[in-house]
Amino acid sequence: MTARTEDQPRTNAAPVIEIRDLHKSYGSLEVLKGVDLVAPRGHVVSLIGSSGSGKSTLLRCCNLLEDSQQGEILFEGEAVRWKGEGMARHPADRAQVIRIRTNLSMVFQQFNLWSHLTILQNVMEAPVTVLGRPRAEVEAAARRYLDKVGIGDKCDAYPAQLSGGQQQRAAIARALCMEPRALLFDEPTSALDPELEQEVVRVIKALAEEGRTMLLVTHDMRMAADLSDHVVFLHQGRIEEQGPPDRLFGAPQTDRLRQFLSVTA
Ligand code: ADP
Ligand code: MG
Repeated sequence: MTARTEDQPRTNAAPVIEIRDLHKSYGSLEVLKGVDLVAPRGHVVSLIGSSGSGKSTLLRCCNLLEDSQQGEILFEGEAVRWKGEGMARHPADRAQVIRIRTNLSMVFQQFNLWSHLTILQNVMEAPVTVLGRPRAEVEAAARRYLDKVGIGDKCDAYPAQLSGGQQQRAAIARALCMEPRALLFDEPTSALDPELEQEVVRVIKALAEEGRTMLLVTHDMRMAADLSDHVVFLHQGRIEEQGPPDRLFGAPQTDRLRQFLSVTA
């Protein structure tokens, strides 16, 4: 992807996300066994792999929803750190957590909208309460992003009144309203019926074409092939193979990837 959005300056040469030798365990279960990954500005990096291979864990480590035991995560060159040992580990400081979660805004498989808030209120909630931005300014931005994802007419509806595809588009508008440096998608279409899936794919595709930086976990190989600058195949907590989509999907080098693609195609 070569296009860029205007709010993404070209001056900062550091990748938006860089992960070096990341290890993550849950108790004695080692889930990530030394993962390296780079998401340069304006690139879409897709993560594919079987269920349980560690894709969600990797995304969650990036925005501090999980800690990690070894290795480094850098956001625009800034080390994202955890302090302390064992259960006492906690993010370095609250300001850093807010900065990272704001800048690496996540879209979840299950949308995670607040059921008691309208769609507009859902999109406005974090920019107003967490970031303290002026309500009128946030409302204007929220309406703009809801228009952009094609549900500008649903501002006053509650999540339960929307289809799954509309709810996921609302969740994308909510992530955009944080004005993040990158979007992290965790299987954004896998909870949707096939006919609703495409409306969400179209929105994600439009964002990719704008030159937004994205880390995209997906089971949808067509979307990964279509949108990605780089594809990473994770197998049991290790990167088994990675490269440009043409090569990964057109000429996989490892048996494991060939096997994975033969069952997902
Ligand atoms: P994926 O997203 O690729 O399906 P996950 O990152 O969700 O994989 O999970 C990787 C492994 O970590 C799986 O074996 C899963 O059972 C385990 N796991 C994930 N979250 C937790 C947790 N909170 N506690 C214990 N084990 C977990
Ligand atoms: Mg997952």
